[in-house]
Amino acid sequence: MRTVSIVGGGASGTLTAANLLRMSRGTDLRVVIHERASEVGRGLAYSTTDERHLLNVRTRDMSGLADEPGHLVAWAEREGLPADPIGFLPRATYARYLTDLLTDLDDGRLERRHEEVLDVEPRAGGGYVVTGSEGRTEADTVVLAYGNLPSGRLSTDDGPLPDAAWHLPSAWDVAALRALPADARVVLVGSGLTAVDAAITLLGDEPVREVWMVSRTGMVPHRHLPLPCSTSWVRPISDDARTADVYAVHVREQVDRAAASGVCWRSVIDGMRGLTQRLWQRLDVTERRRFLAAHARDWEVARHRMAPEVATAIEAFRATGRLHVLGGGLGSVDDRGDTATVTLRDGRVVVADAVVNCTGPCPDLDRTSMPLAVRLRERGLLRRDPLGLGADCEPDGRVIDRDGVVRDDLVVLGPPRKGALWETTAVPEIRAQAADLAARLSEPADARRPDLARR
Ligand SMILES: Cc1cc2nc3c(=O)[nH]c(=O)nc-3n(C[C@H](O)[C@H](O)[C@H](O)COP(=O)(O)OP(=O)(O)OC[C@H]3O[C@@H](n4cnc5c(N)ncnc54)[C@H](O)[C@@H]3O)c2cc1C
Repeated sequence: MRTVSIVGGGASGTLTAANLLRMSRGTDLRVVIHERASEVGRGLAYSTTDERHLLNVRTRDMSGLADEPGHLVAWAEREGLPADPIGFLPRATYARYLTDLLTDLDDGRLERRHEEVLDVEPRAGGGYVVTGSEGRTEADTVVLAYGNLPSGRLSTDDGPLPDAAWHLPSAWDVAALRALPADARVVLVGSGLTAVDAAITLLGDEPVREVWMVSRTGMVPHRHLPLPCSTSWVRPISDDARTADVYAVHVREQVDRAAASGVCWRSVIDGMRGLTQRLWQRLDVTERRRFLAAHARDWEVARHRMAPEVATAIEAFRATGRLHVLGGGLGSVDDRGDTATVTLRDGRVVVADAVVNCTGPCPDLDRTSMPLAVRLRERGLLRRDPLGLGADCEPDGRVIDRDGVVRDDLVVLGPPRKGALWETTAVPEIRAQAADLAARLSEPADARRPDLARR
């Protein structure tokens, strides 16, 4: 009997387990999923309880199964939910979908363990001992699906922000946002999709709250159009192109050409999506670093868009003067007990009931305090990728350990693969990774890839 242990039961872990169960039917392969939260299928991304938090990808593109694109739409129809393929479902609904998907495929070979995994230790004869808060289990292969790591601590030039009642370290803590006073004045640090979610909850719940969304650039995500672009505008980039600046020029040229033909820029960005991983892998580390420094923010703002309903709500909050979006970033934050005096770099001052960290996940393994990541780094099993975007790994997720050894039986998927692939955090990529991984792990042991290779 072989056992695959999956650490993390968010979308990545759930889809890996589902695909494993599907592909290994009739075998004795066991799947164990370890999840510290009470339910499998939510993860950080889909655990929100606010129904106004919508998916940022259309329903038709969010099927959990790569080979069944209509699977989510069919599920929504069966559930009697609005199943518009080009619409955007609430994220909480998507969590229900993932939960159902896994439950339907469970033929008795799935074990759910409600625990935090604290350590993964290689066994002498191969495989691993997985130590969780509820005990030890053994596995032949471990899949690290720990997903989005917590945000880094907010800081200013004066150092990290103190622990204080007004300092909310996680924008994903919807209950903490809702518990703020009805007339609260709130500073959100960050202006991406995480800050958009927080603003929707804070301003949608209470009519007199006021919010300042502050980031270095002051750029908010663009909106999805209600109807998807009918054209996917892709002109191949030369195989010789291997610099971030050339890529940026190529995208701008395509946007201009598309516009000249009356085609929206979104068609270019969406058309690039299937090429992004390959283009990223062509860049060396210096060029990847250049991309991060010079172009990543523009790319992210164009690529990760708001559902139209969310964008309309945000525009309305801005128009009525309850939401202010400001560039420049935080200057200083002075603790006044129940409130904080926040001085922005442009000199503006806000007396805030709360300062909320909306900077998004911090993927750098050397900066996280997540106990498992710390332990695996100490063991030398996991190391940061050269740019601090995730775990060092092959594009197929096999981790590269401290000695440069590629481990066939220790695999990451989803967000931790960002250093290797760049485009890896959303469901369309994750479901493909989960299916590929499950296909490999479902093969009989002797048919699988030969042993460890040194990098
Ligand atoms: C707020 C938000 C909204 C998003 N919306 C979309 C969207 O609309 N569409 C889209 O395609 N993508 C979206 N994404 C991208 C998202 O990263 C992926 O869709 C996907 O949910 C990632 O799943 P994951 O399981 O890798 O990570 P996560 O969602 O972060 O889940 C990881 C899980 O692992 C568990 N875990 C971690 N460490 C341990 C441990 N040591 N022991 C036990 N359990 C552990 C956590 O408790 C968590 O449940 C969103 C991301 C965020 C943060």
